[in-house]
Amino acid sequence: MNSNLCNRCGSCVGLSDGAIVFEDKTGKYVPVQKRKINDDLADKLWQSCSGKEFNFPVYSKKIFRETPGFHRYTGAFQKIYIGYCTDEAIRRNSASGGIISSVLIWLLENKWIDGAVVLKMSETEPWMNEPFIATSKEEILISAQSKYTISSVNEILPEILRFKGNLAYVGLPGQVQSIRKLQEINDPSVINIKYIFGPFYGNTLHFSSVISFLRSYKIRDYHQVARLYFRYGEWPGYMRAEMKDGKIIQLPKFHANYLIPFHILKNSLLCTDLSNEFTDISGGDAWAPIYEERGKGFSMVISRSKTGQEIIDNMKSEGLLTLNEIELDQAIEMHSHGYDLKKRGTFIRMRFRQWLGKDNPDYGYSITGFSFTRYLMEFFIGALFLLLGTAPARFIVEKIPPAFIGNIFEKVRTFWKKSTHNIKRNQLT
Ligand SMILES: Cc1cc2nc3c(=O)[nH]c(=O)nc-3n(C[C@H](O)[C@H](O)[C@H](O)COP(=O)(O)OP(=O)(O)OC[C@H]3O[C@@H](n4cnc5c(N)ncnc54)[C@H](O)[C@@H]3O)c2cc1C
Repeated sequence: MNSNLCNRCGSCVGLSDGAIVFEDKTGKYVPVQKRKINDDLADKLWQSCSGKEFNFPVYSKKIFRETPGFHRYTGAFQKIYIGYCTDEAIRRNSASGGIISSVLIWLLENKWIDGAVVLKMSETEPWMNEPFIATSKEEILISAQSKYTISSVNEILPEILRFKGNLAYVGLPGQVQSIRKLQEINDPSVINIKYIFGPFYGNTLHFSSVISFLRSYKIRDYHQVARLYFRYGEWPGYMRAEMKDGKIIQLPKFHANYLIPFHILKNSLLCTDLSNEFTDISGGDAWAPIYEERGKGFSMVISRSKTGQEIIDNMKSEGLLTLNEIELDQAIEMHSHGYDLKKRGTFIRMRFRQWLGKDNPDYGYSITGFSFTRYLMEFFIGALFLLLGTAPARFIVEKIPPAFIGNIFEKVRTFWKKSTHNIKRNQLT
């Protein structure tokens, strides 16, 4: 598999019984075939591969037959909300409004599920993330918060297969899409997954981002990390590393975003799914000054399936969620930069790749008709990412104090957002 198309969902590794493994997880993080596999298995691996192909219109019709709302940017939806969970401890512990964690806890406590597939930071290698099956509220809380380095949740498929009981599953769009493909072929490994949830998804970063973050503070050995957070503390939180010797380094999330152009997983730029369109419920940050200023963590929540809506209605009536419904246009407007990146930028980037003779994922649809200035803008961003992703650029940025570069990055980003506002929002809704 061309590593640019691989979204690292982990399904091929999970299904192949050791024939395919991820090598170099702190480096390129690529799946490598270690031994020969038979044709049947090879067929199944390709069928589960969401990096190569995932037909959005077909799966949307199949999964959301009864769902009334649809927009090609948001995917199918019952209702769209802004809000948070009312349990302050869960909310504080989570990435934004604590919706995903509280939904999982509610399902577990009401015995709709016996466990939840989630992602935590490893106990033995606290700088790496790892999927596991949480079977208690405490374990769900441990798994809360966003991890911005590459995750390959579906490596856990063999454990899901062995699990006795009903499961909820949380994953990024590529991971969810692969689970949907496996459900479509009735693969035993996903039969006990009953509910699917997931965060919105802008991008993920290579582990080199963590190495670089540490080096900027003159820490050379990432093995000395005792705990690593990407959204520590009050929303939007801090990227924070606690070292074994007691030293703590941290940077506000918006400043730590400077790492993105230097360490982005290139495949993120081929993903057209911002709001995790094939989940029962998905959640993102509520990006709007009114919520950002309050600083407590607000989520945008999209209920998609009938079951997703039922869960939300139950939790609302029990006073566990405070959610205000918003209109589709408001939702698109609030995430206009994200939708522009995914639903315009991706298709333009795929066009550039096609011109260069490179493979593209097949999503079964495409969006066209963008202005020349939008193409030009994408060309400029692409060239910048290419330049900043090089070893010399990464080397230089590590010599600059992160607080300084982070501050500059945020200012440039705000300026860029303002100056490209019209190009990006033009005809978006
Ligand atoms: C890589 C990444 C990129 C994101 N990009 C955006 C964005 O561009 N715009 C936006 O609005 N929101 C984005 N989000 C979502 C946002 O950060 C919050 O996760 C979301 O608002 C849900 O908040 P919550 O408080 O309900 O989640 P929580 O209650 O904190 O629960 C989060 C759940 O997500 C799981 N999880 C965390 N990280 C990963 C991961 N890497 N892979 C698989 N599962 C994971 C956890 O195990 C947990 O179950 C992103 C999240 C991630 C992980």
